[in-house]
Amino acid sequence: MSETARVVIVGAGHGGGNLCTALRQAGHRGPITLIGDEPHLPYHRPPLSKAYLKGEATVESLRLRPAEYFAKVDIDLRLGTTVTHVDGEARTVALDDGAVLPFDVLVLATGSRARRLPIPGAELAGILHLRDLADADAIRAAVVPGSALAIVGGGYIGLEVAASAIALGAKPILLEREDRILARVACEPLAAFFDQYHRAQGVDIRTGVRIVSFVGADRVTGIRLEDGSIISCDAALVGVGAQLCDGLAREAGISCEEGGVVVDANARTSVPGIYAIGDMSWRPMPLYGDRMFRLESVPNAIEQGRRVAADIMGKPQPAHEVPWFWSDQYALKLQIAGIPFDSHRLVVRGSYEEAKFAIWHLSDANRVLAVEAVNMPGEFMAGRTLIGAGRLVDLGRLADMAVSIKDIVKAV
Ligand code: NAP
Repeated sequence: MSETARVVIVGAGHGGGNLCTALRQAGHRGPITLIGDEPHLPYHRPPLSKAYLKGEATVESLRLRPAEYFAKVDIDLRLGTTVTHVDGEARTVALDDGAVLPFDVLVLATGSRARRLPIPGAELAGILHLRDLADADAIRAAVVPGSALAIVGGGYIGLEVAASAIALGAKPILLEREDRILARVACEPLAAFFDQYHRAQGVDIRTGVRIVSFVGADRVTGIRLEDGSIISCDAALVGVGAQLCDGLAREAGISCEEGGVVVDANARTSVPGIYAIGDMSWRPMPLYGDRMFRLESVPNAIEQGRRVAADIMGKPQPAHEVPWFWSDQYALKLQIAGIPFDSHRLVVRGSYEEAKFAIWHLSDANRVLAVEAVNMPGEFMAGRTLIGAGRLVDLGRLADMAVSIKDIVKAV
């Protein structure tokens, strides 16, 4: 590629928005077009379920960069615009306003949308999802003091909204079909801690429940469960996972798996000059061997954008990052480094009672695979370092809180 290549980025979320910056910082001088179907400048999505919902953040404060920035670095911003077709051979994208844009490099960063539940009543008013600002505004309007909010799904969306609903004086009832919350993203002891914490704050959590329909005439008034019982509610938030927006890539004949658009370590797809970053990519992670991953996280989208910028510019690639995630609920700051599964043994440092602990996931040889830290940022940072270094730790010292985590890092 070259520093004057015409770059078109589809998707103005965290991945696409930051890629513009990464390219200009790497010295790219050619035209860059950023296309997004929402009317908004690229913005931070994580606060939508937290600060924004609670009225502590505004549309302006969520922006990744102010409007002037995009003008200053000469980005052709096409907001409120949808790409309808990608032609990989002609190397053009068609827009819903009739325009056809040529590209030398195309980056797909279309992310994912909130999955819908295909059950009767799913179209009733008062059934809410959370992915974008418009969704968050609808939730804000519905979650008023004293209102009963049914939440379907005990993942991050469900739990973060439950915590915000408590802060707003509403009454959340959370329905999860697995036998525990956070089943897909956290280990069992961590999930048990969050379960108890939420219950203590007043969230009514029901696990192992199957919901069969939404009930109501025009507006949802309840949720019917498999056993025939009905959970009454004033509104229902559905947080049952993400559905990839990979349609453009599939239509263009780009190689895809069920997990997303197949990319290499530098986010290159099967078609030369076309990249895919963020939630919709199915990517290798060299730190974890040959396995492929879908990482639905902001740091992942940013990392892939940096690698795309280096690849386009022919610059050396940065070191591979350790994946990480975070979630804020009440006064709990959860930070996860690595992928917290397939571990051989767990070592807990700190105290569940004081809500200050770190769960270390080790391989059979005592290599650090992941760390889940609650209100212990030092342990999280140490975990990132140790996972990245791929070194073995001394089990006895790690299990001994008298030994500081800094000393353990120094020793390896
Ligand atoms: P999620 O993490 O996939 O959690 C969805 C949960 O809902 C899963 O436990 C799922 O169980 C459960 N579920 C699915 N169908 C159900 C049903 N019919 N009845 C009851 N429960 C059901 O997805 P999410 O919480 O909706 O989050 C959506 C996206 O936003 C993800 O990409 C997530 O990573 C992202 N997000 C991230 C953060 C963060 O990192 N802090 C915060 C908010 C959102 P199964 O496993 O059985 O399907």
